[in-house]
Amino acid sequence: MLKKVRQISIVVFIGFFIVSCKSEQPIGIISAMDVELKYLLSQANIEKTYELGGTTYSQGTLANKKVVIVKSGIGKSLSAAVTSVLIDRFNVKSVIFTGIAGGVGDGVKITDVVISSKVMFHDYGFYGNDDKLKLGSDFLEKIEIKADSSLVEASYKTAIEVVGEQKVHKGIIATGDQFVANAKYVKYLAENLDVLAVEMEGASVGYVASKYQLPFVIIRSMSDKADGLAHDDYENWYKIVADNSGKIVLKLLENL
Ligand code: SAH
Repeated sequence: MLKKVRQISIVVFIGFFIVSCKSEQPIGIISAMDVELKYLLSQANIEKTYELGGTTYSQGTLANKKVVIVKSGIGKSLSAAVTSVLIDRFNVKSVIFTGIAGGVGDGVKITDVVISSKVMFHDYGFYGNDDKLKLGSDFLEKIEIKADSSLVEASYKTAIEVVGEQKVHKGIIATGDQFVANAKYVKYLAENLDVLAVEMEGASVGYVASKYQLPFVIIRSMSDKADGLAHDDYENWYKIVADNSGKIVLKLLENL
């Protein structure tokens, strides 16, 4: 009897140890640009910073949750690199990307928010003599990567709390190494690939996170419509909408 009690208490202790180790893991928060992190850094309590590969990782708490916050720089390679470092070096339990994007399709307007149900690469594939890009290849197993459904639902609900129901969408975010300012291309993304937002980092973050089976979500606030007016719209809106995305992340951490 005594032996059984001892066995049970060892199992309970190990279980408790695993759970408490897990709850100690930080959440990784990534943005591409300073403007996208400004709000969150102003709200965070940063305890320590690390310089790794020319990049600053800020460790601390945000809404009483352990976090590591990092600006990756723009584009797929830099955002993939910091995701690996967050996972390998900082042992994050999940990754949240916060930033701005171009809204795709008539339904997604400037200042609206898109939460990634999935992410995809829109510029990865085979480019042949027919001048057309055939998406995907033998090397990339999946061109669409599903985000973590509970993080997606929590982000969606939180975004509604912050900016209101009409302004929040859930769907595919497409990533490529181009600032898209082309009405024809954005129409193609909407009609052929069902994309709701286009940007330059989400799918690379999601792809690395999914390789490690780590939950991720991309939260984007629309600075432009990725069309002929995109450059001017971007200049007018990027600061305001970047803060909106940060506000959603802060509330999300409070809600988690
Ligand atoms: N003014 C900056 C441009 C930044 S690129 C410069 O010249 O350095 C745009 C950034 O915002 C990227 O990080 C991307 O993720 C996002 N973004 C916003 N609108 C976009 C669009 N229409 N196409 C692609 N990325 C967009």
